[in-house]
Amino acid sequence: MLWIRIKSRLLLSYRKFMLRSGFKKWMLRNRYGERILVFHGVDSVGETRYNSRFFSKEYFETFIQYITEHYNVIPLDDFYQKKFKPNTLNIALTFDDGYLNNYEYVVPILKKHNVPACFYITTIHEKTSYLFPDFIDLVEFHSPKKELVFERNVYQRSSRNEFVWNGVSLKNIAKALPYEVLELLYKSLQQDWLNLKPESLAEYWKLMKPKQIKEIADDPLFTIGAHGETHASLIDIPIERAKAEILNSKQSLETICKQSIDEFAFPFGFYTKELADYCLEIGYKKVLLVDYNTISDKKQEALQNRFVMNPYISMDLQLVCLLQNSYY
Ligand SMILES: [Zn+2]
Repeated sequence: MLWIRIKSRLLLSYRKFMLRSGFKKWMLRNRYGERILVFHGVDSVGETRYNSRFFSKEYFETFIQYITEHYNVIPLDDFYQKKFKPNTLNIALTFDDGYLNNYEYVVPILKKHNVPACFYITTIHEKTSYLFPDFIDLVEFHSPKKELVFERNVYQRSSRNEFVWNGVSLKNIAKALPYEVLELLYKSLQQDWLNLKPESLAEYWKLMKPKQIKEIADDPLFTIGAHGETHASLIDIPIERAKAEILNSKQSLETICKQSIDEFAFPFGFYTKELADYCLEIGYKKVLLVDYNTISDKKQEALQNRFVMNPYISMDLQLVCLLQNSYY
């Protein structure tokens, strides 16, 4: 892991150096192939201190203009049917988590440039108004607390400003918690949450409501897919519970959108073969990952990996990595 991280840093530095040294044109020369991109949130200013999942709307629009001008941006359906253009990069766009900022910023930009996309929604909005990673990120950033006692464990602040117990961050532990336990966490940090004036930070946690999800589903440019109910890591919770998340999020979105939902994106990209098979068994036709677990998964056409966008690097460097299909 450490070697991969060092290698990735070295390669990014090398690419940065090459871009600065006048090799930009050469590095961004046309390459061929196919990519499905993953975005999460888009905000008004490009704040990256709270999390690693947001781009500014300005960056986003410039990026969309660039890829529509230089590459072939296609609907995911066409991607699955391999309707690719030769001699260019074929790109499909996906957005995970179902943030309200997708509705407010992303959708108008995509409509303006006539760019198709898929939105993968967690159906947690039926129970609470935020996802646990956003709740924890924002509380960790704003709360003055040095430690936190939760489920009889004492979490201390780490050098990265996270609450950590036994070397594991609270956010990582939360990935495997059943919703009833997460609710206890929300309760114990409720005052910290209110103190950070959540309404003023709405861009960083608010999720779409059914009305907005339906509006996107009705637009022929876009499709809606499921992303589980609670955003738990489905490989870290009991299998029956994971299957229920996969099934219930499908059914609940079908009720909202009044159409069949046949796309599923695994939260964090974590999956097992059994869960991927279950997705196909209950009617999902497209199952989106981040990385394949095995070579045989790669051969299964319903499963597709995706390229996660990185808000910490310049657009040129992002494009170079995208063309290479790798950050390292
Ligand atoms: Zn997600």
